[in-house]
Amino acid sequence: MPGGDMAKPLLGRRNMESNPDLTPAAGRTVGILGSGDFARSLATRLVYSGFQVVVGSRNPKRCAGLFPSAAEVTAQADAAKKTDVIFVAVFREHYSTLCDLTDVLAGKILVDVSNNTEINHHKESNAEYLASLFPACTVVKGFNVISAWTLQSGPRDGNKQVLICCDNQEAKRIVAEIAQVMGFTPVDMGSLSSACEIENIPLRLLPAWKIPVFLALGLFLCFYTYNFIRQVLHPYIREQKNRFYKIPVEVVNSTLPCVAYVMLSLVYLPGVLAASFQLHYGTKYRRFPDWLDQWLQHRKQIGLLSFFCAALHAVYSLCLPMRRSHRYQLINAAIKQSTLGFIALVVSTLHTLTFGWTRAFDENQYKFYLPPSYTLTLLVPCTVILAKIFFHLPCIHQRLRRIRNGWEKGRYVKFTLPSATGEYSSGESSSNV
Ligand code: NAP
Repeated sequence: MPGGDMAKPLLGRRNMESNPDLTPAAGRTVGILGSGDFARSLATRLVYSGFQVVVGSRNPKRCAGLFPSAAEVTAQADAAKKTDVIFVAVFREHYSTLCDLTDVLAGKILVDVSNNTEINHHKESNAEYLASLFPACTVVKGFNVISAWTLQSGPRDGNKQVLICCDNQEAKRIVAEIAQVMGFTPVDMGSLSSACEIENIPLRLLPAWKIPVFLALGLFLCFYTYNFIRQVLHPYIREQKNRFYKIPVEVVNSTLPCVAYVMLSLVYLPGVLAASFQLHYGTKYRRFPDWLDQWLQHRKQIGLLSFFCAALHAVYSLCLPMRRSHRYQLINAAIKQSTLGFIALVVSTLHTLTFGWTRAFDENQYKFYLPPSYTLTLLVPCTVILAKIFFHLPCIHQRLRRIRNGWEKGRYVKFTLPSATGEYSSGESSSNV
């Protein structure tokens, strides 16, 4: 198992020497209970980071060959006796089988590395459960967000952060130091009650992308249905024309730019709403409603998904001989940068307006009284652009700028005026004066 990468210590000797704080931890003996995938990767990484490693297994003879020769593989009780810091690389279901070791583990630090298979699977976290089984030990939760693979390939190839929590500061410090020597970045997550949160992290798949992805899918579904009615259903019902061949390609290709365009405007809409909120309440210190807060935090992902849809549309249009694809092309590559992204929104809107102006008044373009999809997509971008223009009116812009600099409507602050004699007198004034 140890690959070329594993043979290299993550912190070179020079690094360790230059940081004297790290050397005491590096020489420490660290124990591991369990001989599975995680235990093997952890043992190897610990050995190459300069630790003495002792592995406790139910069957040491069988698994000794799987560990680096520098690691000692022995019986569980024996390993527990030899060290004060022990990683429990065993599944929660098997914790109770370790109870025979209660006496020998008393007073030691147990590092719970376990994960669950479901979010909030148990009432109490695995770490708290372990602590309840071994009340004489100090349990530290940590390393569960690091996979065996990351331990093998080194932190530069995956998540570098090791989230740690424990009720005992000293135990937390020791484990954080071990993580640091191994090349990881320890993150203090507070007391052991945070263990549940830490255990749920690996089960949450790209949490920041969930809402934007659902938003994109929802928009796609709406526009696809809309375009399907106009491009396929309407000709079939009214003119008995079979246009079902358009379903997989043309309808998709006319849907993608609609989604991209609306998503791009949704990047700017929360900013507009936030500005309106601040203007309305005359302060920047009032919390935004949760939904707006969430929306503001997801703007980057929404923008990137908009770019993805636009890029997909470009690929579709380039690869397939589509007569009408050019209509929907968006200048979207610039959305990474806020101002350029907004320019892209304005240019796309101008493009859509010039392209569709005459058609918007053509009766034939209305299928089942439904306007062309580009007309529909204009709604949100136009609202955003008009709102932005409104916020740039000098009187509004100035008020907004003052609010963002800390001024508050109707709030008076006390300050002291120097008097003619050099003494200070107390006065009241609005903070914007
Ligand atoms: P694994 O390969 O199945 O190893 C589990 C080990 O537990 C076994 O090798 C066994 O070692 C030991 N064990 C002790 N008592 C046991 C019992 N009564 N029944 C069965 N096994 C017993 O699992 P793993 O992937 O190494 O995971 C171990 C822990 O690390 C889990 O809590 C997991 O959630 C956590 N974790 C794993 C990863 C990963 O990438 N694999 C990542 C983060 C966290 P002996 O037979 O030598 O006693």
